[in-house]
Amino acid sequence: MLKTSEILDEKDKRLRVISKECSFPLTKKDKELIHIMIEYLKNSQIEELAEKYDLRPGMGMSAIQLGVAKRYFVVVDEVEEGKFETYVLINPKIISNSLEQIYVDMGEGCLSVNRPVEGIVPRYARVSVEAYDMEGRKIHVRAREELAVCFQHEIDHLNGILFTDHIDPKNPYKGKDQMRAI
Ligand code: ZN
Repeated sequence: MLKTSEILDEKDKRLRVISKECSFPLTKKDKELIHIMIEYLKNSQIEELAEKYDLRPGMGMSAIQLGVAKRYFVVVDEVEEGKFETYVLINPKIISNSLEQIYVDMGEGCLSVNRPVEGIVPRYARVSVEAYDMEGRKIHVRAREELAVCFQHEIDHLNGILFTDHIDPKNPYKGKDQMRAI
């Protein structure tokens, strides 16, 4: 089982590398890592388990956050109480996006950023993503609202970008009036 301490911290330079595309079939190691990531994210959203295993609640995780510079991430979305939708996106690309922009009112979170961060992160309200599944089949996922934010956040990780990079330190709420809060 993955421990919280194994997730790279924002100060770790490995989070700044541009991850490389995966080829198929995936290696056994990558498949195992994906299952470990799913397990962590799911358990982290179940209060008793999060407490028991000292997990930080998170919805998404990219391979690079565990030091693996490959272009894939996992998102576990709690669609209703105790019901989870899991996404494994390999070599993802945003192929279209809405003009409308949103930001997470409570602030975006990241398993690698262990401190409160002030400011807003502009994101597209809707994105259409092309990717591959674990078997190498091409998939198409459309996301909106929180899930869209999450996909954009994870794709940023694959390019060495952290959400904090999007916040202007001199004016952390820049552009707030032009965007919708979620
Ligand atoms: Zn993150």
